[in-house]
Amino acid sequence: MKETKEFQTESKELLNLMINSIYSNKDIFLREIISNASDAIDKYKYLELTSEGKVPSKNYEIYISLDKKARTITIKDNGIGMSKDDLIKNLGTIAHSGSKEFLNKIKEAKEKNELDIIGQFGVGFYSAFMVADKVEVLTKTLNDQGYLFTSDGLNTYTIEEKEKEDTGTVITLYLRKSEGEEDYDKYLDEYTIENLVKKYSDFVRYPIKMDVTEKTPKLDKDGKEIKDEYEDKVVTKTLNSMVPLWKKNKKDVTDEDLNKFYKDNFMDFEDPLLSLNLNVEGVVSFNSLIFIPGRAPYGLYSQNFEKGLKLYIKGIFIKDKCKELVPDYLKFIAGLVDTNDLSLNISREMLQEDVRLKKMSDIIENKVISNLKDLKSKDFEKYLKFYKLYGDHITFGIYSSYGFKKDLLSDLLVYKSLNNENYIDLKTYKEKMKDGQKYIYYACGRSEESIKLLPEIEKYKQQGIDVLFFTKEIDEFAIKMMNDYDKVSFKNITDHDKEDLSKEEKDKLDIAEAENKELIDNIKEALKDKVNDVTLSSKLVDSPVCISTKDGLSLSMEKTINEVPGDEKAKANKVLEINPNHAIFKALDKIKADKDLVNKYSSVLYNEAMLLEGFDIEDKESFVKNLNELIENSLK
Ligand code: ADP
Repeated sequence: MKETKEFQTESKELLNLMINSIYSNKDIFLREIISNASDAIDKYKYLELTSEGKVPSKNYEIYISLDKKARTITIKDNGIGMSKDDLIKNLGTIAHSGSKEFLNKIKEAKEKNELDIIGQFGVGFYSAFMVADKVEVLTKTLNDQGYLFTSDGLNTYTIEEKEKEDTGTVITLYLRKSEGEEDYDKYLDEYTIENLVKKYSDFVRYPIKMDVTEKTPKLDKDGKEIKDEYEDKVVTKTLNSMVPLWKKNKKDVTDEDLNKFYKDNFMDFEDPLLSLNLNVEGVVSFNSLIFIPGRAPYGLYSQNFEKGLKLYIKGIFIKDKCKELVPDYLKFIAGLVDTNDLSLNISREMLQEDVRLKKMSDIIENKVISNLKDLKSKDFEKYLKFYKLYGDHITFGIYSSYGFKKDLLSDLLVYKSLNNENYIDLKTYKEKMKDGQKYIYYACGRSEESIKLLPEIEKYKQQGIDVLFFTKEIDEFAIKMMNDYDKVSFKNITDHDKEDLSKEEKDKLDIAEAENKELIDNIKEALKDKVNDVTLSSKLVDSPVCISTKDGLSLSMEKTINEVPGDEKAKANKVLEINPNHAIFKALDKIKADKDLVNKYSSVLYNEAMLLEGFDIEDKESFVKNLNELIENSLK
């Protein structure tokens, strides 16, 4: 019985896009169908290998045939096949999240008029309709009869029972008529198909065969070649080289091979920033290809982003995103692992707990990191490209391991700094430290510019001491976890303490504070709701005041913590530091007994300091009122 069904809405959208062919590279339909065929064979082979002889073995292959008269291309596989339900589920609806993602991308790109960026997305079965106006899928699973799915890709498809002997799937594409620049006839050309297979499907692990006509020397009746005489002969040819790239001898694999493999298999159209080809033998043995994408993978910053590498066991595809193979902070890497160490029968639950995967993950992590260190020393420009894309993740690696990974990762950190236009690393900072400098100094802010405005930075500038610029929220949190770099501790320049001062300087400050006690106490009283303390400072050069913090929680950390929704709010221990050498301080001394005036000046100075720390003024109305009164007074 023939049943007619409607495509799911999303499928219709995708089909529509395919037919109206916004997609410029029609050639990829063949890659998509072959890739499905290869997956289907993987699945069958997996059944065979785990069935203890119950599922018969086969000569696995994918067979392409061309019929010029009927204008069809047929792609046949002897894989797992599809049941009737599978046909409805897999071909009647968008089965694969990649296709959904593709749809979203196209919509986005359409809005921005950037259709050419779509490049090489995995678009799956529906891509057949770019070149065909009718597609037939004849398929059979192990213990079922065969079914024929037919569709013109418009609104509906039909399914009917149909005789088929062997398990597997035969897909027949009825090519569209060539029109103007749209040439579909070329797909009936053996040479075109051969080239497309070589280009896109060379590493498919099963033979992709086709009957091709070759000119062969004519033979005489004794079977000897006749010189210069040829005849056409049909031979079955395997079009792909089959050996997966990761199984090839390393020295035979070029960077171009790796780049191409990455682009063909990981839905990207840009070369990766870094490719690794690993053959590991030891406690665990595996082959692996690892790539760092040249742009952040789609959805990397969303909570639903799935990290992981493709997992193959004994050359058979097992799963797409094996998350156990990648530590969280490296979730941006793509690639695959093929190992003989695991059994094909391993269950998903066992996989999660398998210590061998953890070992592989550790090895991959170390290799990625050591290669990044290499890149950093050999091609700093390129490393910076990496760092701008994924530097936060590396920093997060230190933070999320509570500093445990600092030895592994700290040499990958780079920052801009007061004395350097370009980025520098901690090692360079340390080497350039001044005689007697005890700390690695840093300052936090939303941008380089805002850090340069911090009043506290003046002294460092004057003394030529370098200060690292932390412009990412995570930077300071990670540094707190590290505690020190190569035995030198870090210090935020806005920390309130006198550890940096010589005994002489300390004594001098103490005396000045004692002498100005009344003024300082009055300012303290004026700002009692805002700051925990008011002191004199030796940090400032040109500015009258700054806000520092005590006890390790800086203003920028306070801000970050408080941006996270929740009841618990953090409160930094703030101190207003006053520059005793500044004219304002000297002038304030004259009005110190007038509490009302001290209140107004203190409030303006506090707000000024907070502004430079990168905060907004809390009570704008009273700030402006105070300021106006003070201006008025001064003009009287
Ligand atoms: P994707 O391959 O990205 O999942 P497709 O639209 O290409 O998406 O295919 C949808 C599903 O249809 C596949 O996941 C697979 O389950 C099934 N399928 C497609 N082609 C075949 C085939 N030749 N043999 C068996 N199943 C297939």
